[in-house]
Amino acid sequence: MNAPHPQAETIFPFDHSYAALPERFYARLSPTAVTEPRLIRLNDSLARDLGLDSRALKTPAGVEMLAGNRIAEGSTPIAMAYAGHQFGTFVPQLGDGRAILLGEIVAPDGTRYDIQLKGSGRTPFSRGGDGRAWIGPVLREYIVSEAMHALGLPTTRALSAVKTGDQIMREAPLPGAILTRVAKSHIRVGTFEYFAARRDEEALKALTDYAIARHYPQAEDTANPYRAFLDAVVEAQARLVARWMHVGFIHGVMNTDNTSISGETIDYGPCAFMDTYHPGKVFSSIDHMGRYAYANQPRIAYWNLSRLAQAMLPLLGEVEEKAVAAAQGAIDAFPDLYETAWLEGMRAKLGLATSREEDRKLAYDLFAAIAAAETDFTLTFRTLSSLGRKQGDGDDALRGLLGEKNALDEWLSRWRTRLGHESASEDERKSLMRSVNPAFIPRNHRVEEAIAAAMSDDYTPFERLLQVLSDPYSDQPENGEYASPPKPEEVVERTFCGT
Ligand code: AMP
Ligand code: MG
Repeated sequence: MNAPHPQAETIFPFDHSYAALPERFYARLSPTAVTEPRLIRLNDSLARDLGLDSRALKTPAGVEMLAGNRIAEGSTPIAMAYAGHQFGTFVPQLGDGRAILLGEIVAPDGTRYDIQLKGSGRTPFSRGGDGRAWIGPVLREYIVSEAMHALGLPTTRALSAVKTGDQIMREAPLPGAILTRVAKSHIRVGTFEYFAARRDEEALKALTDYAIARHYPQAEDTANPYRAFLDAVVEAQARLVARWMHVGFIHGVMNTDNTSISGETIDYGPCAFMDTYHPGKVFSSIDHMGRYAYANQPRIAYWNLSRLAQAMLPLLGEVEEKAVAAAQGAIDAFPDLYETAWLEGMRAKLGLATSREEDRKLAYDLFAAIAAAETDFTLTFRTLSSLGRKQGDGDDALRGLLGEKNALDEWLSRWRTRLGHESASEDERKSLMRSVNPAFIPRNHRVEEAIAAAMSDDYTPFERLLQVLSDPYSDQPENGEYASPPKPEEVVERTFCGT
């Protein structure tokens, strides 16, 4: 109420560790001011976790900061330099073309977070782009990243969405918007590739030392910190992608510039959650070859990590063969790490607290059965969670989902036999399953509905969707329609980068 004119520097008590790295790591510049910033939404609970004052952020001065119109004194905003393999092709210079890192905040729990504006105007890395974003991709990233967080997946987060009051040109003029993104950092595989491609070993070393100190300090205490760092990044990616697979998430643009070193999901573009399960599912309008299809994601993560290992070769050993062997050793661990993380999550999804040899096949066969039955990914697992151990117990619910097809019958009977080896009570097992098999995911048609309404300044569907998605593992009977797959006429087949 009475926080009339908070000082910019008290709204965001910025620190600047990345900006203290050598000048060739970034370009210093301020966001480009917008005409009439208006707050669409501030994420109060995230602000609280970061130790920020929500009320101050909602004042005109706060909103001006979230729009890039006002910079805190002592702030050193930067656009970060990075390169990247896009769809397999190396591009030596990408960088923040439409984003500006305002600075870092150290949260009350001691974690350092980047505060970045996305859609904040042109930078030296913009190439042909306008540096802007329209309201569609901004709300899409807000919804999906916050849903991922509520689902328990590592992800960048959304602190705010602001409407700029400017029209931006895409296929048609569209309302401009800016997202404030919060990340453990914005260091990407592509950041390493940027310096490796320039044979700038000094920068490569400085970057790696920085990333170790910020994300994997335990690597410092090992015999070979650079190798330990690479091992840690490989493991974080393996775990992350396994989690994507567990919830039916398709990133859509797994380029190396969109692969975070911290192991967070980053750069929500044409990403989507599957409705009907299909291993080859692709949503992105630009992914013509299906390179980033659902089932390809683990393989692509492995490929991206190989690019990191390659970029780090000069740090991994003075003798070339030794460096190559270290790099190879690190990435060779990926398949097992991934499989282990995947299977661990799948066991929970199937209500198995113990492990047995046959579990892997049981999990794989379920996917084959769901593919054959062409059912909804999320609802199938959620429905399974309420089935009893006894043959036929609760099967009606599943039958409702499968329609005429009974592709799961044989599988169900194997699953029930397997449940016979579990000692947990039925209630415990069902509650374990419900805690990992969400009822609510950000379904494409709901995301599109929220964006369509926002185009005419109606943010009710956006707010309601966020509310539902903030508690994805509860039944929420009053929001039952948000758990439902799209009707045939509501199905969204394509998603766009939004650039
Ligand atoms: P993405 O794959 O969407 O994360 O973006 C790939 C590259 O394109 C990054 O370097 C972005 O900064 C850049 N980019 C995307 N959209 C724009 C835009 N509207 N203006 C300038 N650069 C952009
Ligand atoms: Mg990107």
